[in-house]
Amino acid sequence: MAVEEKNKAVLSRGRTLIMVLSLVLFLPPLAVIFQASSSDIDFCGTWCPRMFFAVRQGAGLGEIAGGIMRSYLGVALVAGVLVSTFFFGRYWCSHFCPIGGAGELGSKLTPAKMKLDYSSIPAAPVRYGYLLVYCAAPLLGLGSLCCSYCNFAAVPSLFGAAFVSADLDYFLRFYGIINLVLFLLLAVLARGGRAYCNFLCPIGALDALSARFGQGIGRRVRVTAERCTACGSCREVCPTWAISLESTAKVDQLSCFPCRKCEKVCPEGAIRYGKAK
Ligand code: SF4
Ligand code: SF4
Repeated sequence: MAVEEKNKAVLSRGRTLIMVLSLVLFLPPLAVIFQASSSDIDFCGTWCPRMFFAVRQGAGLGEIAGGIMRSYLGVALVAGVLVSTFFFGRYWCSHFCPIGGAGELGSKLTPAKMKLDYSSIPAAPVRYGYLLVYCAAPLLGLGSLCCSYCNFAAVPSLFGAAFVSADLDYFLRFYGIINLVLFLLLAVLARGGRAYCNFLCPIGALDALSARFGQGIGRRVRVTAERCTACGSCREVCPTWAISLESTAKVDQLSCFPCRKCEKVCPEGAIRYGKAK
């Protein structure tokens, strides 16, 4: 095997290993170790990376600041993710997010015949339309979508349901059932396992903006147009349907995260991860 091929294989195995480790560390009982620096036992409160940017009805500046202080670890996590994405691309989403990883690993175990293909749906309008509703839901009287439809609560409960009655009870309630169905349809049964990430994750939506803003400066997955023969192999394997084919392949930085599956399959070596030339 050529050195380049070996590197690609190592890269791919390394990402799978990181996804598995992230998932294991996040799930009970090891989640308790991860959250040892706070009194949280369920990722709500101090660690919540989502609640602080939803607009609450009648909330003044003091209350907004209070929400940010209360979730200070979650705020720090999101800020760190956005800054690292600006320079290096969306590694949080592709490698470290335990929930995105759970969906992708689940999808790997699903037979190809059963997989659902969402690639004909334009991801960005759905994603940012949902983000808008997500942020304004309390103002519209829809309650807190970040809490009701939180997959950071649903996925650990799914793994804990066999051992903990509270986790099992979660799936006997309305929101628990909806979250389970969303996880199955948009992650485990989705081709590539990342439709939830691409459509409904609010952190992913913000992270994608950071990737787009930093694309001229930072490292990204890029196509060398002179080498590309528009064969389409890269588009076939992309889990976020970020690649479009015109006279050559084009990568949409709003949807791409550096899983680098496309780089691995490109027969012309036309895809690389790096800075703009
Ligand atoms: S796999 Fe390579 S050659 Fe084929 S379309 Fe993608 S970038 Fe172009
Ligand atoms: S464009 Fe390539 S690196 Fe980006 S998500 Fe698709 S397969 Fe992964």
